[in-house]
Amino acid sequence: MDTNTKDRNFETRAVHSGRVPEDGANSVTTPIYPSSTYRVEFPGDESGYVYSRWSNPTRAALERALASLESGKHAFAFASGLAAVTAVLHLLKAGDHVVAVDDLYGGTHRLFESLKLKYNLGFTYIDGTDPENFAKAVNDRTRLFWVETPSNPLLKLADIPVVSEIGRAHNILTAVDNTFATPYIQRPLELGADIVHHSASKYLAGHCDVIAGAVVVKDDQLAEKMHFNQYTVGGMLGPFESWLTLRGLKTLHLRMERHSLNSMKIVDFLETVPVVDRIYYPGIDGRPVPNNMTRPGGMVSFNIKADWDAVRQFATATRVFVLAESLGGVESLINHPASMTHASVPEEVRQAHGIGDGLIRLSVGVENSDDLLDDLRQAFDTMDRGMRKA
Ligand SMILES: *Cc1c(COP(=O)(O)O)cnc(C)c1O
Repeated sequence: MDTNTKDRNFETRAVHSGRVPEDGANSVTTPIYPSSTYRVEFPGDESGYVYSRWSNPTRAALERALASLESGKHAFAFASGLAAVTAVLHLLKAGDHVVAVDDLYGGTHRLFESLKLKYNLGFTYIDGTDPENFAKAVNDRTRLFWVETPSNPLLKLADIPVVSEIGRAHNILTAVDNTFATPYIQRPLELGADIVHHSASKYLAGHCDVIAGAVVVKDDQLAEKMHFNQYTVGGMLGPFESWLTLRGLKTLHLRMERHSLNSMKIVDFLETVPVVDRIYYPGIDGRPVPNNMTRPGGMVSFNIKADWDAVRQFATATRVFVLAESLGGVESLINHPASMTHASVPEEVRQAHGIGDGLIRLSVGVENSDDLLDDLRQAFDTMDRGMRKA
């Protein structure tokens, strides 16, 4: 079978890339290699696999697939999205400065803040929707731009080509957290970014059954540093999770299509609900969508104009949407950022960034859209009845 998938289209590469053709049993799928160590031909032989923290055949298969789908050259799989962020931050030294978007995944924000105190790293948070804000925040210590687009939970969009250009002019690396869009919808390395980051726990693995992270780069020297950080810090992904993530990638394009279709129908519905006073969604308000995003993706956030008791009633009334942290799986999830995913962000920072008590974030799954709409409708009805009683 043709395993050199370089010239193939995205969907074909999603299904085929990374496959291990020479496993001795003619397997169609990539085997799981649990071995921690490998027989070598002579002392000091490093021509093949040596030790699985350094490299592992199953993880290498996943890394080849990730590099291919993100239009990169080298990928590195980690034990979590945050382990992957940590490995990127390991490129920095004490005194260095990072400019990051203000609407960040809560755990990334917590990690940045903990390093700020311990290792004297500087972090400036800016509204990433205006690229000029990156330029304004740069100082002579700035080494890294950290961009999340669409961001979490307000789905703000940053213009990757313009931000990367500003970075390049100042010798600053631009890293893009591409967790929400996935490479099916947006490919930052093609747009000028230096580093792509993923929480593969979300759409890449796609079934809420793996915690994993990834970094993809195109530059050989940067890849060498990232590999050093991977085997030196040691947060690499194990073979079983690598295999599950690789399996998830095979249906990424199918899932992202359905996530997007379902989320568009839900946004149409939310626009008719009187208590919903704000919807956050890529491309809404007739704004042009930057970065050649080909689909809106599966994330929808919205604000309910009601008190916390009513919002709580809504969030606990859904029967198909599961009230849970995380996102990106085949099952629809509902989340209340202020008390769940973003509870670690200080109250005043949250309020300043628009993450209030009325904010709800949906991870729209791949179920039947009528069932999802019915579920939201009955949850709003339940909330209305509760509000009338009160
Ligand atoms: C979940 C998430 C992370 C952290 O990834 P983990 O796999 O949970 O460690 C980082 N960024 C974004 C956008 C996320 O959604």
